[in-house]
Amino acid sequence: MKQLVFATNNIHKLEELRRMAGSDIDILSLADIGCRDDIPETADTLRGNALIKARWVKEKYGYDCFADDTGLEVDALGGAPGVLSARYAGGEGHDSAANMKKLLAELDGKTDRTARFRTVIALVEGDHVHEFEGTVEGDIIGEPHGEGGFGYDPVFRPEGWDKTFAEASADEKNAVSHRGRAVARLIEYLK
Ligand code: IMP
Repeated sequence: MKQLVFATNNIHKLEELRRMAGSDIDILSLADIGCRDDIPETADTLRGNALIKARWVKEKYGYDCFADDTGLEVDALGGAPGVLSARYAGGEGHDSAANMKKLLAELDGKTDRTARFRTVIALVEGDHVHEFEGTVEGDIIGEPHGEGGFGYDPVFRPEGWDKTFAEASADEKNAVSHRGRAVARLIEYLK
């Protein structure tokens, strides 16, 4: 059976991936291979960061590996927060409430509120590198709505929807999401 490491510490992403990959592919986590490294995400593109993580595991642990990186790109802000999405409001990052607050402040008074989530997956397989991308278009609403999801979900309304990602079920979100689409392309390639 094909064995691959998914370079993530996010258990939800891992479970989602395992469910989509089915029984043909054995997907290992970083914990499964004894990797507790704090892998630096120092690139200035999503692609660069995904590649750093996947290459790190291949070079130090010898496993074929894939990794993802996601950003929210807001058109009126020139594509920000983009690769800095987790750390938009500063500090250690991953403070979703602070990130959303800053985003809404930056967009105050702006009429163009179009945005998209973009996920890039880098797969390092032997000597080869493959990339898979998924996007979802939408807009940033005026204030947070909904309790589900994570990150910027409460302020992101996908195109054609009358609710945010945070108001959708996990299945509804995965069916159209940036990550869902990138993962579907990866799985299609692997199979
Ligand atoms: P990561 O590359 O998946 O860790 O994503 C980086 C940052 O983008 C996260 O910290 C979130 O702020 C944001 N983000 C990624 N995926 C999503 C999503 O599906 N919904 C909302 N925010 C997300």
